[in-house]
Amino acid sequence: MKEFDYIIIGGGCAGLSLAYEFEVHKKLKNKTLAIIEPRQEYKKDKTWSFWRVTPHNFDDCIKKSWENFSINIPGKTNHLECNNYPYQSIDSGLFYKKIINKLRENKNIVFLKDLKEINSKNSFIFNSVPTLKKNHINFWQHFCGVEIETQGDFFDDGIFNLMDFDCEQRESVHFFYTLPYSKNKALVETTWLSKMSDNSQKDYDEQIKNYIEKNLNLKNYKITYREEGSIPLFYPLYEKEKNKINIGTAGGMTRLSTGYTFLNIQEHSKYIRKNIENISNAKKYEIAKKYQFLDEIFLRVLKKHPEKMSDIFFKMFNVSPKTVIKFLSNKSNFLEDLSIILKMPKWTFIKSLFK
Ligand SMILES: Cc1cc2nc3c(=O)[nH]c(=O)nc-3n(C[C@H](O)[C@H](O)[C@H](O)COP(=O)(O)OP(=O)(O)OC[C@H]3O[C@@H](n4cnc5c(N)ncnc54)[C@H](O)[C@@H]3O)c2cc1C
Repeated sequence: MKEFDYIIIGGGCAGLSLAYEFEVHKKLKNKTLAIIEPRQEYKKDKTWSFWRVTPHNFDDCIKKSWENFSINIPGKTNHLECNNYPYQSIDSGLFYKKIINKLRENKNIVFLKDLKEINSKNSFIFNSVPTLKKNHINFWQHFCGVEIETQGDFFDDGIFNLMDFDCEQRESVHFFYTLPYSKNKALVETTWLSKMSDNSQKDYDEQIKNYIEKNLNLKNYKITYREEGSIPLFYPLYEKEKNKINIGTAGGMTRLSTGYTFLNIQEHSKYIRKNIENISNAKKYEIAKKYQFLDEIFLRVLKKHPEKMSDIFFKMFNVSPKTVIKFLSNKSNFLEDLSIILKMPKWTFIKSLFK
């Protein structure tokens, strides 16, 4: 059976980002890599968006960048700037194509469908397939987005809407998210933060149709693309093993308060590449403990008081968008953290601290 120096399980966002990082930094000249990926073909299946607080390898896969955004609660809109840290959307189709083309140049890299095809005993494994706790009711960000096209100009593509809470809440936290890619194209997404224990919030198509027709007041449009997904707002199981590191969602790269993962994956890939010569002894890379702690409290409040969350999100952005963006992207300092914490309803958070 064939053996490889490195094995990446899962050729999705984290697996491919890591392989690309290795390849462009010439770490696979004298090493072999197997990427285990069951999918039959790579095609656009996700749109990854984030505030660009740090450089990454995929500027050429950006669909659109914005320097202004808004957030709404019923009756109120806040217009905000993000020119220090533009918000970017990456087209996964372009991302996959760029990486696969690059990896094909190196004969030391192979794609396989199943781990059983090789002997993995002596390899170092980077695993991006999460093990989720069975029968454990947990919290998810689940969503569905459609790209729509209008006949004439309709959208202001200079500003995106991060959260519009002016919609049914159904005793959960629910908002819409709109990314106008051009004056006649936009992604409109319905997003829920909930236990997702039944299908009662999954009438996504109906929710989106109502929102487009009633809230956006748009009647003539066609849907050109649809994506659906869920992001665990809890850390998957992680068992420390000598020759294995978890990456991506499986490796705890998701910010639990927001679901943002993409840039954390990029930073984790860089960290692994820098330490690859001594990877078995490298310190575990993780989202800073202070964010893990604050996110846990935030989620406790969210679970207990979903009805308060639209107001909390709205007020949070009243601090200074730059500070909030840094906080949500794991780049804030102590004073910035404090300024956000002070905007929160103190008693609600303090009570959650002790439960
Ligand atoms: C639709 C969607 C939109 C998202 N949008 C954003 C966003 O805007 N911003 C953001 O920061 N984050 C976003 N996320 C969260 C996160 O960035 C993505 O989930 C990201 O793809 C996580 O990367 P990953 O490599 O951990 O998982 P994936 O990209 O899902 O990769 C896992 C890979 O493992 C493969 N696989 C599955 N089972 C096996 C197996 N048994 N053996 C081998 N391989 C297997 C899968 O086919 C897949 O290719 C989004 C998530 C989804 C689902």
